[in-house]
Amino acid sequence: MDPHQEMVSRWQALKSELDQVKLLAVSKYTPDEMVQVLIDAGETEFGESRPQSLRDRAEKWPQCNWHMIGPLQKNKAKYIGRHAAMWHSCDDIATAEAVARSVEGRVLPVLIQVNIAGNPNQRGVAPDKVAAFAHDLSQIEGLKLAGLMGMGPQGEGVRDAFRQLRSLRDNLFGGSFGELCMGMSNDYRIAVEEGATIVRLGSMLFGSR
Ligand SMILES: *Cc1c(COP(=O)(O)O)cnc(C)c1O
Repeated sequence: MDPHQEMVSRWQALKSELDQVKLLAVSKYTPDEMVQVLIDAGETEFGESRPQSLRDRAEKWPQCNWHMIGPLQKNKAKYIGRHAAMWHSCDDIATAEAVARSVEGRVLPVLIQVNIAGNPNQRGVAPDKVAAFAHDLSQIEGLKLAGLMGMGPQGEGVRDAFRQLRSLRDNLFGGSFGELCMGMSNDYRIAVEEGATIVRLGSMLFGSR
């Protein structure tokens, strides 16, 4: 089989496996040509980690939804405010205010990225600061808190970390309302078992770099 057809087959298998859970096709390392093949197959939800790439692809394929999943600097906030369908990696109020200034009349759904891996080098709001952060975020016009996002630790403790994120979401939203965006290529099955509503898959869909 040719590589394009193989990718489409992987995508179809994932779509039926994931069923109600939303798949984000993380296209950050993927050339335009492969993105086009997936769009032709019917995919509409893509994740990008660099603001300029998100802007470029959102302009090229406005019929799709482009989700921002990577770290964001304030000076790039306008790309996200204008072009992202959802911002998954919000962990700083000043940056959120900058994004809100460029939403141009719409309301951008935002997920708080939580540092569930307990690794100080990772991005994300500390679990015990999430409630206060959510309160501050809710004061910002133009953004709407839509759920939580987290990245599992490398190695041990993945399931516990996902459980922690789920219980934070349940507490914050008073039940299972609110998105729970967790799970990547190496741990998405555990994430789905623990209640993920969105998984972010790159390498297992597009092949490793
Ligand atoms: C790159 C990336 C992914 C996808 O990772 P894979 O392991 O390739 O599936 C998911 N989430 C974030 C935040 C990423 O940066």
